Amino acid sequence: MPTTKRDYYEILGVAKGASVDEIKKAYRQLALKHHPDRVGADHKKEAEEKFKVLSEAYAVLSDEKKRQVYDQYGHAGFDQRYSTEDIFRGADFSSIFEDLGVGGSIFGDLFGGLGLGGGRRSGRGADLELELTLSFEEAAKGITRTVTVPRREVCHDCRGEGGERISCSACHGSGQLRQAAGFMVIARTCSRCGGVGSTVKKPCPKCRGEGRIEVERTIEVKVPAGVESGMRLRLSGEGEGGTRARGDLYVHLRVKPHPLFQRDGPHLLLEYPVNVAQAALGAEVEVPTINGRVSMKIPSGTQSGTVFRVRGKGLADVHDGRTGDLLVRVTVEIPTSLNASQRKLVEELGRSLGDESYPSRRSFLAKLKELLKR
Ligand SMILES: [Zn+2]
Ligand SMILES: [Zn+2]
Repeated sequence: MPTTKRDYYEILGVAKGASVDEIKKAYRQLALKHHPDRVGADHKKEAEEKFKVLSEAYAVLSDEKKRQVYDQYGHAGFDQRYSTEDIFRGADFSSIFEDLGVGGSIFGDLFGGLGLGGGRRSGRGADLELELTLSFEEAAKGITRTVTVPRREVCHDCRGEGGERISCSACHGSGQLRQAAGFMVIARTCSRCGGVGSTVKKPCPKCRGEGRIEVERTIEVKVPAGVESGMRLRLSGEGEGGTRARGDLYVHLRVKPHPLFQRDGPHLLLEYPVNVAQAALGAEVEVPTINGRVSMKIPSGTQSGTVFRVRGKGLADVHDGRTGDLLVRVTVEIPTSLNASQRKLVEELGRSLGDESYPSRRSFLAKLKELLKR
């Protein structure tokens, strides 16, 4: 799942190293500006969206632990580690809205429909995402990388229940609270039980009522040869633990660029500058490949931009394992500085070479002449 979410710091307009106070202040200002109760009906929907995004950024960045995970793994890693319920759990909004003089109850309305509390009931652990950066060579040849993944697993002691549970006294087990607002009744997620419908009577001492414990797992990720930036690997069952099934771990690959090579699928592209003499007279040159050098013949009269194909010297195709080619694009470099005697030689060369030595130029001039006659 490629993430297109905006950076939380950017959303709040604060620096990466901003203090909690700065984050609170930034959120307070923006929340006030975009609070859905403060805009006209025309812009309500838009304001609600904006408000949700702001509040999510605040909930994450104002929590030391969540912020740390976000800083380390970015959206991709964060979102699969924390459900929406987790993100908002424990976030302190009340102190902000008290002195704003606007309702904080907006949260129940806005977030009630997001399926808060659903994650725990489905019994399947969340998928995790992580990003792996590879060198160009590692991507070309394939590699096994050992990664450490912090993830939550079901607490064995309470089997994920968090301890002895009793029906929630606030919502009587329904997970929702109903509130009359004018003619309407608004249902929102019960804040006491987070929508689960029950609360822990006696918390499990091992997980302190969370039902899950955080563990660090070391996982070997086998990256096949020929992968490219943007590809992802799925490691089945390596996500978070659930009461019924484990989630998966998705590894997003990022491949660093190479100083000389570019890629076109399994084919390697190389720009190779030669001098005027080599291009005019022909030459045997050594070109680099991903596995050492190979020699390549440049025929006499080679024009700048000509592409030569060295078969089988590309990369493995990650889909069918076939090997691509190395495509060498020769560019002819004109000398950028000449001393007096070199200048003389070039002038002499220029005089001795007539139009017949330059077929493209000759054809161009002929067409131009025709055009001017009209
Ligand atoms: Zn437990
Ligand atoms: Zn409840």
